[in-house]
This record gives sequence, structure tokens and C-alpha cells, in this order.
Amino acid sequence: MDLGWTKEEEDFRLRLRAWLRTTLPGLPAKPSPDDWPARRAYDCAWQRALYEAGYAGLHWPAEAGGQGATPTQQLIYLEETERAGAPYVGANFVGLLHAGPTIAAEGTAAQRARWLPPILRGDEVWCQGFTEPEAGSDLASLRTRAVRDGDAYVVTGSKIWTSHAEIADWCELLVRTDASASGHRGISWLALPMDAPGVTVRPLRTLAGSTEFAEVFLDEVRVPVSHRVGAENDGWRVTMVTLAFERGTAFAGEVVACRRTLERLAVTAKENGRWDDAVLRRRLGRLDAEFGALWRLVQGNVSEAESSLRAGGDGVPGAGASVFKLRYSQARQDLYDAAAEVLGPLSLDADHAWTGERLTSLSYTIAAGTSQIQQNIIAERVLGLPRSR
Ligand SMILES: Cc1cc2nc3c(=O)[nH]c(=O)nc-3n(C[C@H](O)[C@H](O)[C@H](O)COP(=O)(O)OP(=O)(O)OC[C@H]3O[C@@H](n4cnc5c(N)ncnc54)[C@H](O)[C@@H]3O)c2cc1C
Repeated sequence: MDLGWTKEEEDFRLRLRAWLRTTLPGLPAKPSPDDWPARRAYDCAWQRALYEAGYAGLHWPAEAGGQGATPTQQLIYLEETERAGAPYVGANFVGLLHAGPTIAAEGTAAQRARWLPPILRGDEVWCQGFTEPEAGSDLASLRTRAVRDGDAYVVTGSKIWTSHAEIADWCELLVRTDASASGHRGISWLALPMDAPGVTVRPLRTLAGSTEFAEVFLDEVRVPVSHRVGAENDGWRVTMVTLAFERGTAFAGEVVACRRTLERLAVTAKENGRWDDAVLRRRLGRLDAEFGALWRLVQGNVSEAESSLRAGGDGVPGAGASVFKLRYSQARQDLYDAAAEVLGPLSLDADHAWTGERLTSLSYTIAAGTSQIQQNIIAERVLGLPRSR
């Protein structure tokens, strides 16, 4: 087994590093975290820069307009962009990291041609309309219904906790297309244009003060049948592809960001005298080991996906994605708890970046499937234990 980088990978790293060095100084200043239209513009400008330099959709297959890079090159990309302090994927999160890859894997040629290029260019932003007020963990109990009327579905219902709904152009929407079928059967995956008549977005304010997500109300919204990805009533299977991407790879870049924050915590602790506390030093050391292990887990999942691709498989992350999601979301909370200890009384300052991050980190064990649900998946699909229900 060779754990080193190949010559091609090293060349890729150096080329990317050089491009980041010349590109980042010319980027506009980061907008205020509460100004969502400005954040969208900033994130899309970064996506456009990546597109023009040939780095957009690095991990997407070449047939889908991506770069067809190996998962290892994707890891190198994450390391280098994070090390250079490049912007994060931000408003383009859903489009680039799971709606786009789902359309690439499950969409028709016409659907790939319509939706994938604008995602890669940073022209169109997507959100995810899966959760409903009574269907979160038990997603298959969703009730938003879509009734066929000629060449369109008439969609009525509501979604909740829809991140970036306010600034999105499209929504990956789950609907019930067969009212008589229950559970996983009778669900379809639609691309909903957010400006369609009958769509109302009502922003919700989070604990950290941000309006990053919203309620979405759908009142007899007409969605062309041609906007359905996958067969009618086969949406649950398509959703499993989306969720595998969301849990398996979408958070990988954040692990690198957390390791950088940890380094800053150590520097701050040395500056403000907290480093003298041996218990705190041990805590930071444990976190360092935890994030190191998480990065190894990412590499393991990536190498599994790479082998699957080489063997002609689909490269969709497996149930190991849930192991990563479970540990990562807890480690992120632990990191910002430690940050509060390093900061001391300053951690009560609502304007301090780490205070906002600490509040936001609480949502990580809920978003993209709660920890309890990840534990169920690990018990059933990794450990082979009997089903919980
Ligand atoms: C910051 C953030 C962003 C989000 N963004 C989006 C988005 O963009 N789009 C979207 O569609 N959704 C989004 N969500 C919603 C998220 O996916 C749901 O909140 C999550 O799936 C949990 O569903 P719920 O809130 O309905 O809780 P519930 O399902 O009501 O769960 C309540 C509690 O019961 C536990 N529980 C429920 N069922 C079981 C079970 N079978 N076994 C063990 N424990 C169980 C849960 O773990 C939890 O502790 C977001 C959530 C957050 C916090």
C-alpha cells in the first residue's frame, strides 16, 4: 500500500496553490453575515472564479461538466483552499454538494444540460425542501402532495428549516405523488423553481440571530412533469442518493476548517495565559486527535468511493457516511465549547465570531439527520443489528 501522493497529485496541489496565491487577493471583501443577498453574490462570484479557472465541480463526473478529478484530488483541493483561507462553498452548498451530484447520477441528459452548468458557473442557487413540520427524522411520512394535471404537477403543502430558501432559484423538493401509498412508496423528487406562483418563503431566525433558513409554503404550485428527477413514485431511492452525498462528503471541507480553528485556539490560549491550564491543554490535545481521526475517516470514505468508481460502481458514499456525520457533528460542538473556555468572559460577547459559531454548532447534531438517526443507521447497516422499528 502506498500512502504517499502521486506525481500527478503533487502537480495538481502546486498548480492550485499558485492559482489561489494570485486569485485570493483580488476577491471582494466578505459581506456581513446577515446580508443574505450580498452573501449569495459573494459566494457566486467565488464559484464563477473557480469555474473560469477550471476548478468548478472538481468531484463531478466529466459528462456532467465537472472536472472528473479523483476523490484524492478533491481532498487536496479542500486542504489547499482551507489553508489559503479561500471562501467556503456557502450559498452554493446544496447545488454543488448534493442536488447537482444527484441530478448528475439520476437525471436525464436534458435535465443535466439544463441544471448542471448554471450550478457550476455560480449562476443558480439551490435549496433543499425535504423536511416538513411533521416529517423530519421520519422523512417518509411527508405530506406535501403533487397531483398530476396534464403536463404539470399541482403541488400543495409546506416545508420547514429550508436553508437558503430566501436566496435560492431552485429547490430539490420531495412530494407525495401517490396519496394512497404510505411510507417510502409514492414519493417523487422534483426541481421546484422558487419564483413559481404560489411559493411563499417566510424566514426563521436562529438562536445565533441569523435568518439562514425559512418556512416554505406551497399553494397549488404548478411544476412541469419534466422537472421530476427519477421515475414517478421512485423518489425515495433518489433521496437516498442525495442524503448519501449530504452526509458522506458535504461536510469534509469543514473538518479542515475546524482544524484551523483549533490551531487558532491554541495560539489565543498562549497569548491570554489560558495555556497554563493543563486540563485545558489536554482538552485541546484530545480535540486535535479527534479531528485528525475524522480527517482519516474522510480519507477512508474517499478511498472507498475511489475503489467503487474504479470497479465501475457509482461512487456514492456508503453507510460509513453516517459514522462520519455522527462524530463530526459532536466534535464541532466540543470544539466551540473549548473555544468558550479559552475566551473566558469574552465568550459572552455576542459579536465574537466564536460565540456565533458556538451557537450555530448546536444545530449540527440535528441538521442533515439527527445523531439518533445516524446511530440507528449505523446499528442497522454497519453493525447489522435488528431494525429499531
Ligand atoms: C441548521 C439546520 C439546517 C437545516 N436545513 C435544512 C434544509 O435545508 N432542508 C431541509 O429539508 N431540512 C433542513 N433541516 C431540517 C433537519 O433535517 C431536521 O431538523 C432533522 O431531520 C430532524 O427532524 P425534526 O426537526 O423534524 O425532528 P424530529 O424528527 O421531530 O426529532 C425529534 C427528536 O426525536 C428523535 N427521533 C425521531 N425519530 C427517531 C428514531 N426513529 N429513533 C431515534 N430517535 C428518533 C430525533 O433524533 C430528535 O432527537 C435543517 C435543520 C437545521 C437544524
